[in-house]
Amino acid sequence: LTFLGIESSCDDTAAAVVRHDDGTEPAILSSVVEGQTALHAAFGGVVPEIAARAHAERLDGCVEQALLQAGIRLCDIDGIAVTSGPGLIGGVLSGVMLAKGLAAGCGKPLLGINHLAGHALTPRLTDGLSFPYLMLLVSGGHCQFLVVQGVDRFDRLGGTIDDAPGEAFDKTAKLLALPQPGGPAVEAEAAKGDPARFAFPRPLLDRPGCDLSFSGLKTALLRARDALIAEKGGITVQDRRDLCAGFQAAVADVLAEKTRRALALYAQYGPAHPALAVAGGVAANAAIRAKLETVCATTGTRFIAPPLRLCTDNAAMIAWAGIERHRAGMGDVTDLVARPRWPLDSSAPPLIGSGK
Ligand code: ATP
Ligand code: FE
Repeated sequence: LTFLGIESSCDDTAAAVVRHDDGTEPAILSSVVEGQTALHAAFGGVVPEIAARAHAERLDGCVEQALLQAGIRLCDIDGIAVTSGPGLIGGVLSGVMLAKGLAAGCGKPLLGINHLAGHALTPRLTDGLSFPYLMLLVSGGHCQFLVVQGVDRFDRLGGTIDDAPGEAFDKTAKLLALPQPGGPAVEAEAAKGDPARFAFPRPLLDRPGCDLSFSGLKTALLRARDALIAEKGGITVQDRRDLCAGFQAAVADVLAEKTRRALALYAQYGPAHPALAVAGGVAANAAIRAKLETVCATTGTRFIAPPLRLCTDNAAMIAWAGIERHRAGMGDVTDLVARPRWPLDSSAPPLIGSGK
């Protein structure tokens, strides 16, 4: 089976071709990702209208590139998978419209994919993981623990009740005049800082369950910064490093402890070989990764971190989810709709349909 995947739900325009034949390893024949960081940089965040326009302008070219690099013609693929939500509606619509046109034009099956399902199924593409496994999705827009039970079965064990950790990293960078995206910049500063100097809170650790919160941390950082400014009229290079180190340590501690709890809940699903997979840009953070690895090592859990380009937004994960769904008989939809919101719970409405 060879699928074309299309992704345009946030600020990356992406197209990819993935092939998987029975008894072989899946192959990513191409994966084109065109980011929009520069377009939004001046505004301090993603501007939906600008994103939608950029997707509309770039999607055709990305698809063409993906087919060219894969060395395959549109008429030779077996199906088209497109992110149909959740995300910024203008971008999602651009992708869905293009996919509908292509599918109609070449008479191929069209599958609508939940973006989060794309992330959640990625460890099966990269590591051949079998169900069930625990997924920690930590990105700029999301933070949640999912038990992935099947192609279409996800149980949400908990998640953030406010900001996503990536967002907190980005805001921290902004408060400390570091460049965007904030994650890598804060991590680099933190490496030279003292994590113990500022006592940042570990939100929600006193509460049972694996829900998380990151907005209080951001406020604590702002207060610590302002206290330094009030005291000395500014912050030194070392102050900034220590603030970053303290902030990062707090995020890592919270994620590690909540992961421990999520693993305990997931044990009730009776996994034969317990596994934790991570996805999302924050999973690139070495300090966070190290903490999660320790939690896994001490609980006999296999730790899986797909390569970063497959952890962040891409279309290979969408093509792969398309292959998985197609195989499971969850086929073609002609009444595919774009959805701005689309929770991934098994208790949620049917994953594909007329938006009911
Ligand atoms: P989503 O995919 O959930 O809609 P997104 O597109 O913002 O959101 P990703 O592309 O997966 O998410 O990740 C980007 C986020 O990851 C940014 O917030 C960025 O700051 C963060 N990030 C990237 N590298 C690091 C790092 N080394 N440490 C911490 N955070 C990081
Ligand atoms: Fe994503």
